[in-house]
Amino acid sequence: MDVQSHLRYLEQEIAGLTARPDILRLEWLRMDKSRVAKFEDILTKKREELRRNLARTQEERSEAHEFGRDEGDRATASLSKEMSFRQKAQERGLLMLVEAALGRVNNGTFGECLNCGQEIGANRLTAVPWSRYCITCQELIVEQQ
Ligand SMILES: [Zn+2]
Repeated sequence: MDVQSHLRYLEQEIAGLTARPDILRLEWLRMDKSRVAKFEDILTKKREELRRNLARTQEERSEAHEFGRDEGDRATASLSKEMSFRQKAQERGLLMLVEAALGRVNNGTFGECLNCGQEIGANRLTAVPWSRYCITCQELIVEQQ
């Protein structure tokens, strides 16, 4: 199918859907309410857990400053500092993903792929509720990197 006929096909699809708003509405109701509420709950808990962890890492780091008198201590301190720095960066990134997913819960787009707009598979969302892309797009994105 060439681009022009593909666009025509999409236009027809959209026209067909808007002519039947009840279908769109049913679709919306199916995805929303209890299912999204469950994910919202999981995401909110994850956000709190990450925020707690990040706050704790900060405390530990300022405490670690007090130690490190001899070289061995300093090496250990610097290693643990680097590890906690990495872990913190990872947790920060995850927190951003979780917050973005909660934003999508609020604006009603939760569960839609950010790239193609298709519904993200239920298994995928259950495994990773902060997924941004459907499995197809995710694989394409990974390949491009
Ligand atoms: Zn997609």
